[in-house]
Amino acid sequence: EYVVFNGEIIERSQAKIDVEDRGYQFGDGVYEVIRVYNGKMFTANEHLERLVSSAEKIGMKLGWSIGELESLFATLIEKNGLGTGIVYMQVTRGASPRNHAFPPAGVAQTLVAYTRDMKRPVNNFANGVKTILAEDIRWLRCDIKSLNLLGNILAKQKAAEAGCYEAILHRGEKITEGSSSNIFIIKDGAVITHPANNYILNGITRQTLEKICAASGIPFIEKEFTVADLLGADEIAVGSTTSEITPVVEVDGKHVGDGAPGHVTKKLQSLFDQEIERQCGK
Ligand code: PMP
Repeated sequence: EYVVFNGEIIERSQAKIDVEDRGYQFGDGVYEVIRVYNGKMFTANEHLERLVSSAEKIGMKLGWSIGELESLFATLIEKNGLGTGIVYMQVTRGASPRNHAFPPAGVAQTLVAYTRDMKRPVNNFANGVKTILAEDIRWLRCDIKSLNLLGNILAKQKAAEAGCYEAILHRGEKITEGSSSNIFIIKDGAVITHPANNYILNGITRQTLEKICAASGIPFIEKEFTVADLLGADEIAVGSTTSEITPVVEVDGKHVGDGAPGHVTKKLQSLFDQEIERQCGK
């Protein structure tokens, strides 16, 4: 089992993080998760561009280029013999004596990446998942894929304790996104999702879905919608790198539509499958 550690590929057991690494102490860093199908990364460039942009938004200029990262991760996937799974990567502001302000110039960022086998959640694709609603208590820069995930963690734990797959977050009456996914409602054949602003992470799955909809003539509308709109939707879906397009069949114990995955969601799933096949093969 190999990992990427500061630009090199080494044995996982050899990777050592300093106790004063800012990722460990403050969550001061950014991360990405890239899906791997048939040993190939899906939408790698989009993810790596978002990593660069998340880093820029917290005042970090990444010490590695997108090309360098992509080739490091491709080598890692090959060395670990990964077929279907993920690559997780994170970059922190490095190790330095504890102080909230940024460390002095010259402190090296810490880059870590590893792979994990992960099957596609095909049962969820077919049967849908249950969800709960939870108040969105996170900060106001949810567009940054930051290591600070406490608001997301507490919401996801609430869902897990309720036997649910995801917590759908709302700020007052407005639905924002899931604890680790974007939320799509389907009404009268149109896909509706929260605008890509500071209240949500602009998911790569969300962006892929937008392109798929444009190419297939399915209306994709970015606008705010309410808890009432969610509960009155014809269909609901969650989207993320690991969940792909997963139908939601229950919110807070109430059925969505007739309680089974809807036909627009199924269409989106099949178009998403085709995109995976196009990029990564069958
Ligand atoms: N929102 C949040 C809060 C997330 O953690 C994720 C998963 N990374 C997403 C949305 C979906 O993003 P993506 O499609 O890029 O995985």
